[in-house]
Amino acid sequence: MKCVNCGRELTEKDIICPACRTRRVTACMSCGRIETEGRALCPRCGGEVLPVYDLTVEEMRQRGFKCFIPFADDHIFDIYLGGNRDREGYVFHNEVGYTGELTETVVLPSMVNGHMIHGVWNEFFCNGDCFFPAEVLRGTLERMLKVKKIVVSNGIKDIWTFAFIGCSGLETLVLPRSVKRMKYDFYDLLSEGLVPLSPGQERKPITICYEGSRSQWEDVDISSRLVEYMDKGYVILRCAQADG
Ligand SMILES: [Zn+2]
Ligand SMILES: [Zn+2]
Repeated sequence: MKCVNCGRELTEKDIICPACRTRRVTACMSCGRIETEGRALCPRCGGEVLPVYDLTVEEMRQRGFKCFIPFADDHIFDIYLGGNRDREGYVFHNEVGYTGELTETVVLPSMVNGHMIHGVWNEFFCNGDCFFPAEVLRGTLERMLKVKKIVVSNGIKDIWTFAFIGCSGLETLVLPRSVKRMKYDFYDLLSEGLVPLSPGQERKPITICYEGSRSQWEDVDISSRLVEYMDKGYVILRCAQADG
């Protein structure tokens, strides 16, 4: 098994990755139960067990991830990455969800304290203020050129409209099979087609590496604009599994 964060090959004995200190955790993709006995199927619901990226709240903070947990009176009903909390409810603007290092690859966690993270919300890497005035926008796009690959970890189901807005360097987006909605459509990056966002930069097609098969992808709820960009060759879909 590989470390879900840094990709280092782990031995059976490595409970914690020696390189990046990430714990090795597997969980059921259907009910979120953590599996400790090495079973491939969940004994509670029969769901598939896969490696997840589970952090404590403190580790989330240290690694620059903001998440929030909407509470009902008696239970937590969802955990999201990004967005922010307001008195009356939740707002998804004006706050960047990721304040960690802008490295070539950024891996988004899928659990916090053993609870599944449901989705990646709006403006996770850049907020609305990053886009105006023009000098600010230019600076933002240059800053974000560093991030070439974003990996969404196993278990996350929703990617919302502005999730990866401003990620000007994005070349590869890895999506797990757990994704049910992919509402970010790359419009901010590809509205002019494959025209570079800043002079001297290249703009290559963006590749979605989906961990399922093409027929499983058919069940993912995506926008018509993303379909259009795929048809035009601005976005390329690669499926890790064959059908049948
Ligand atoms: Zn690691
Ligand atoms: Zn289960």
